[in-house]
Amino acid sequence: MQIKNNQALCMTSLASSDAKLELSCVLHHRNNHSDAGLPHLLAMHYNEKRDTDLSPITILGAFINIGDFIMKNVTLGRTGICVPQNGFGALPIQRDSLEESVKILRKAYDGGIRFFDTARAYSDSEEKLGAAFGDGYVKREDIIIATKTGAKTPEEFWQHLETSLAKLKTDYIDIYQFHLMGQCWKPGDGSGMYECMQQAKDQGKIRHIGGTAHKLGVAIELAKSGLYETVQYPMSYLATEKEIDLIHLCNKNNVGFICMKGLAGGLITNSKAAMAFASQFDGLVPIWGIQRESELDEWLSYMDNTPVMDDEIRAFIESERNDLMGDFCRGCGYCMPCSVGIQINQCNRMILMLRRAPSDSWLNDYWQAEMNKIDDCIHCGACLSKCPYELDIPNLLKKNLEDYREVLAGNRKVK
Ligand code: SF4
Ligand code: SF4
Repeated sequence: MQIKNNQALCMTSLASSDAKLELSCVLHHRNNHSDAGLPHLLAMHYNEKRDTDLSPITILGAFINIGDFIMKNVTLGRTGICVPQNGFGALPIQRDSLEESVKILRKAYDGGIRFFDTARAYSDSEEKLGAAFGDGYVKREDIIIATKTGAKTPEEFWQHLETSLAKLKTDYIDIYQFHLMGQCWKPGDGSGMYECMQQAKDQGKIRHIGGTAHKLGVAIELAKSGLYETVQYPMSYLATEKEIDLIHLCNKNNVGFICMKGLAGGLITNSKAAMAFASQFDGLVPIWGIQRESELDEWLSYMDNTPVMDDEIRAFIESERNDLMGDFCRGCGYCMPCSVGIQINQCNRMILMLRRAPSDSWLNDYWQAEMNKIDDCIHCGACLSKCPYELDIPNLLKKNLEDYREVLAGNRKVK
């Protein structure tokens, strides 16, 4: 059997009589054989190490104990797609060079990540995925590619789909999603959009139909419609009970849940707590936005040591929720561009950014000039209808500016 990188490291440790260690070796096999069940994995392991002094029962018992700490595979509803519960969100690699992106994406695959989510709207992200995986580095069927179209007409739909296929260097997309849906497209609604999805599926260009939404009402409609096999929605440990109910609704309706913005657009800095939150659910794959190798390393470290929700993490999340709940800007940028050029997605959460990370970089001349633009707001309202969280943007901006000036004046202390 061919064993890659981290798997090989583990297999050298088999002299230990520690059952948990042996099992972690068995589980490493799973990264390369995601379709294999436990009995098959155990058999593969025993074929390589016949001199173990541990009985299969001991190993199985240890598996049950260790099962809480290793990354589980989850099935995305009726798509039947089964992947480790640790996905790659490929929006941020837009900001990396091609070379760096390819390196990060391949390292993610080598580390066991199998689910990659991108979008036509993420500039060259699809192209970078194509460069990383489209030239034979992986077998196409060994990865899951989800991408999105923001098309509003059937003509645009086909243009987007053909472009995505070409950029991704693939013949098919595993999950094709309508991007940021403002309404639930249905067959016969006159738009022709859902029919495009059906036709693309019939042609074998896509395998499954999904939708992404930032508005809870739309996401609920998608989940109940029976038309969408996956729903992608922002979900973090700051979510409300109503939002968490959406996961249960998807589970009930056998709809896969793709969880975006698991770090609430940068407000959450504790990846361990974010992972522990996500790992509580079935049928859910989080797609962590990854730009840097160090971020990837952090997510990969959870492959073998998945955080579980315990009293300590629960208490931490509770205190975070108390600090952050309410009307806060997630930084998604859907309200932009602003009529007078205010960087709403950053300026509107400055109060939080100053307090959740070292503040120096937010207090420099550049950001002072950007924050001062808030004074130019003409209250045109152009941003209001575009905010999925229905924030009162002009007033929230004003609050952020007042606080910023107090901090600059030294009247309020931040990190
Ligand atoms: S209301 Fe203010 S912040 Fe919103 S788009 Fe208009 S000028 Fe920009
Ligand atoms: S104001 Fe709303 S739409 Fe704009 S960045 Fe913040 S959360 Fe997103």
